[in-house]
Amino acid sequence: FKDYRLKKISLANVNQNNYDTSSTDKINAGFVGLVRNSDLDGIVSTIRQIDDRFNRNYNYPIILLNNQEFTKEFKETVSRITRSKVLFGHVNGDAWSYPRWINQTKVRTERITKKYAYAHSESYRFMCRYMSGYIFNHPLVRDLDYYWRIEPNIQFYCDIDYDPFVYMKKNNKVYGWVISMTESQETIRTLWKTTKMFLSRHPEYLNPQSNVRWILDNKGNYNGCHFWSNFEIVDLRFYRSKEYLRYFNFLDRSGGFFYERWGDAPVHSIAASLFLNSDQLHFFSDIGYHHSPIGYCPDKSDTNLRCACGNKKNLAHYLPCFRNWKRLHD
Ligand code: GDP
Ligand code: MN
Repeated sequence: FKDYRLKKISLANVNQNNYDTSSTDKINAGFVGLVRNSDLDGIVSTIRQIDDRFNRNYNYPIILLNNQEFTKEFKETVSRITRSKVLFGHVNGDAWSYPRWINQTKVRTERITKKYAYAHSESYRFMCRYMSGYIFNHPLVRDLDYYWRIEPNIQFYCDIDYDPFVYMKKNNKVYGWVISMTESQETIRTLWKTTKMFLSRHPEYLNPQSNVRWILDNKGNYNGCHFWSNFEIVDLRFYRSKEYLRYFNFLDRSGGFFYERWGDAPVHSIAASLFLNSDQLHFFSDIGYHHSPIGYCPDKSDTNLRCACGNKKNLAHYLPCFRNWKRLHD
């Protein structure tokens, strides 16, 4: 992988991208979030912003999933505050449990001895594994072609006056993101080693025009760069592809979702950076977005966007992975 550092990333066709999304073809898409009953206020706030900034003109459905039953209060409150259709789904079975090959002693040792964020949490690991390998085939999601992932308490700073789903489809984009950052290496100690084992079995899966350079350090190891997947707009055929599913299954076999704390963000990002053509990845530079503690604000001179960003909330521009993306792609 050292040699890949030297290869140029194929120039994204940014200038040719077609922003006319006025076509009337309906896209089979929706907003999808995994949330707890305790996230009620936060998801209400998120959904109101989605409606006000975008969805009131488009009416894509909102799909909320939970590993526990949603309360009556939750469902009624959410349904009342939006004109979008809201669907509530349940998550259980293999999607939210330990695979039989997992060694529970190893699981416990990691959770007791490590100090990184969410090190002690079992549910966080189930969540990350679910987002990595299952959500796109949930009965309420599996018929969608694209999803836009949402979380409680996120903010959309600006108007979104075009349809990002239509944009993705028209321009052959597969993975859309806004914020990128560096993963803490402690949570993914063997992720890259495992990924390389997978690629040695399937060398043909490495796309020759891929974005791999963006995820490598100068020794050819994973540099931790990832798209912050609390926001992602994805052509779900990617997650359902044999390349992605085999990759997920291989990772799952190794146990790293539990023996370490592999996040869905690095898993999605590594897969997108290996298997896709780099111009199938899209940075949504005009979507203002905040998820604590970091926000991204588009260029404020673009007054058509009607952004409401505070100055301090605009950290994403300064992060190394973001600057590196700019360096490689602009
Ligand atoms: P962070 O953004 O990485 O700090 O993690 P969050 O706590 O925001 O969790 C990510 C998403 O998964 C949010 O939408 C949470 O509501 C959701 N989530 C996390 N843990 C659970 C869980 O145990 N059950 C359910 N239903 N949702 C969860
Ligand atoms: Mn979050």
